[in-house]
Amino acid sequence: MEEGVHYQCQRCGNCCRWHGEVPVTDEEVRKIADFLGKPLYDFVADYTDIRLNRAGLTLIDKPNGECIFLDGIECTIQAVKPGQCAGFPNQWNFPGWREKCEAIPVPKPDFEENDQSPRTS
Ligand code: SF4
Ligand code: SF4
Repeated sequence: MEEGVHYQCQRCGNCCRWHGEVPVTDEEVRKIADFLGKPLYDFVADYTDIRLNRAGLTLIDKPNGECIFLDGIECTIQAVKPGQCAGFPNQWNFPGWREKCEAIPVPKPDFEENDQSPRTS
């Protein structure tokens, strides 16, 4: 990631259509279950799976490979989406991400220079 640049998400939804894990922490699992009004056990059983490395849970995909919580281009759990989703692409990305992600590079605001926490938008 370039120094002094912030990538502004354009909400195209492409990152939610990539096949791959969306890890969720215990706290994130509780927050999403509460947001959906589901008992914790039911949420874990219906919407998560064990990660391939067996080090926690990941959200499941729909049969077409997109995230179970994607509806068109909208995240239906936007208010409580996992940190991995909130941090993409500024806090983590992978080779080739720019070919799919429509985020626009803008000068990084001063308040962000030392901000390492996941963003919420
Ligand atoms: S939780 Fe929301 S932001 Fe994260 S991959 Fe799923 S639809 Fe996308
Ligand atoms: S982070 Fe990039 S790929 Fe994901 S919704 Fe925003 S612009 Fe699209």
